Amino acid sequence: MASSTGRPLVVVVTGTSGAGKGTLEKVLLDTTPELELAVSATTREQRPGEENGREYWFITPEKFDGLVEEGEFLEYVDLPWGARSGTLRSEIDRIQANGRVPLLDLETDGALRVQETIPGAVTIFVDAPTFDELERRLRERATESSGEIQVRLALARKQQEQKGRFNHAIVNDDVERAAKQLAEIVRGELQAAGTMSRP
Ligand code: 5GP
Repeated sequence: MASSTGRPLVVVVTGTSGAGKGTLEKVLLDTTPELELAVSATTREQRPGEENGREYWFITPEKFDGLVEEGEFLEYVDLPWGARSGTLRSEIDRIQANGRVPLLDLETDGALRVQETIPGAVTIFVDAPTFDELERRLRERATESSGEIQVRLALARKQQEQKGRFNHAIVNDDVERAAKQLAEIVRGELQAAGTMSRP
């Protein structure tokens, strides 16, 4: 369970909004049974196909404020399009108590906060191959209004500038290839931490 620093390992996937990190994480979770997704709480609207408790805990802004006050979040973020999302300490504790490694999906500021405060954190930045491709993917998903897409694109530019600050970076040019690379990075970190189950 411990990282090379002797602290419990936590894997953080971050990157530009729309780079496809969610898809890569699904493959990673399927192929790496040592990992379990730490489900964040969010105030944003549930998208079609999302399930409460699977992608997020969907909660009201009032409930979110209460959890902030009670110190229940390891970190949280106010996203520029109005939503708030945060990592629940209870999720990390529950996953680690089960002998597994938490996988966190965070925007870049949250990932940097976790990298600075948790010695066992390993951070992996996922980027889209080009900015045009990022825009195309966000428009294709079409779950946000065009105004929100513009805000997400502006945020993505800022996020790309932070790329060099993370432990690893990968480009999601091809899902299969990038998923394999992500799994290899995580396998290497789990092996270094002595967490990998035997084949
Ligand atoms: P989305 O609304 O598309 O699901 O997520 C928007 C952004 O919020 C993504 O970059 C995602 O990684 C990030 N995010 C989701 N949950 C959390 C969280 O608990 N904390 C932080 N800092 N970012 C989060």
